[in-house]
Amino acid sequence: MQDNLNKYLTEIEILHQQQLYRKPITYIPISATKVLKDNEEFLMMASNNYLGLTHHPQVKKAAIKAIEKYGTGSGGSRLISGSHILFAKLEQALAEFKSIEKALVFNTGYMANVGTISALTNNNDYIISDELNHASIIDGCRLSKAKTLIYRHKNMTDLENILKNLPYSHTKLIVTDSVFSMDGDIAPLDEIVYLAHKYNALTMVDDAHATGVLGKGHGSVEHFHLQGKIDIQLGTLSKALASEGGFVAGKKILIEYLINKARSYIFSTALTPADIASSLEALSLIANDNSLVDKLYDNISYVQDLFQQNNIDINLTTPIVPIIVHSNEKALQIAQKLYEKHIILSAIRPPTVPQNQSRLRLAISASHTQEDLHFVITELIKLL
Ligand code: PMP
Repeated sequence: MQDNLNKYLTEIEILHQQQLYRKPITYIPISATKVLKDNEEFLMMASNNYLGLTHHPQVKKAAIKAIEKYGTGSGGSRLISGSHILFAKLEQALAEFKSIEKALVFNTGYMANVGTISALTNNNDYIISDELNHASIIDGCRLSKAKTLIYRHKNMTDLENILKNLPYSHTKLIVTDSVFSMDGDIAPLDEIVYLAHKYNALTMVDDAHATGVLGKGHGSVEHFHLQGKIDIQLGTLSKALASEGGFVAGKKILIEYLINKARSYIFSTALTPADIASSLEALSLIANDNSLVDKLYDNISYVQDLFQQNNIDINLTTPIVPIIVHSNEKALQIAQKLYEKHIILSAIRPPTVPQNQSRLRLAISASHTQEDLHFVITELIKLL
């Protein structure tokens, strides 16, 4: 090995020693909740496919039709040649779904966060961010020239203490996940909006895990009845919307600004017709049929009841169930034992969660059957 690569080898060895080494595992997906590995069937409990729409016949058909009609690739970035007709339809549908003037599609939720935060804030500005916000928000803050201040998780006293010491007239952006990706809890958006109004701050909410879930699927703004009161609603097309991509929804002026300033929007080839067609179809299914989200919440209540019957005190408000076991080793051991039972439930370790907060993250889907859920919870409880 070349000497100048040695330091990477050392870092990898350290990761192994700390039980923090990670690598992707290849599966063959066969349905919304089942995958094959080495010719054996596994139950998927780690996917963000909350409504199971990745395998919905209409969604698949829409993607196939889009390829047949418009081809496979978009051929260019959005502002050069890649804005095919489906973008206009999806952006219109997203704006309506989110009850706001305009929406803008990015290539991923990650890129939407990074591009939006860094474009909206500059030298003399401030970003005020929840300590448990998603990595893509953190990276957006790092890329911005603004000063970032972190408030304790969902702690409104801490948020207010920060806000009251900042200059009233400077741009201040409060940014939060609505549903926290590794804890499944919900940010107090109504209180955040109140403080933002009091201290003249902008608000940005990341609805990656709320779209298709909270507020009959419309997201956190509908859940809290805050229509017109949140400046930027961000989302992803990659979770409940069963495809790939991210989006930002807000007032026309903000979207116009982002089109011209958000570098992750401007300098990357646009998503393919199949990506956009599948999320457009998924969105239309959610908008026209409450039963999908209802089924998800039936499953969430069912899991809640199972935990309660076993005297485990967990209050579930979203499909994300964190089982915190603290040690990296224990999280890995439980994940491995569940794997031996043909259940895939990932061990989440630092840096995804803080030190000593390693956990199993269970993700419930509308497509899980009650038998699936009963089996998983029974096996999981035996290992705790
Ligand atoms: N925000 C949150 C809260 C997320 O959990 C994720 C993905 N895990 C993202 C943004 C990024 O979305 P995408 O996967 O579409 O890049």
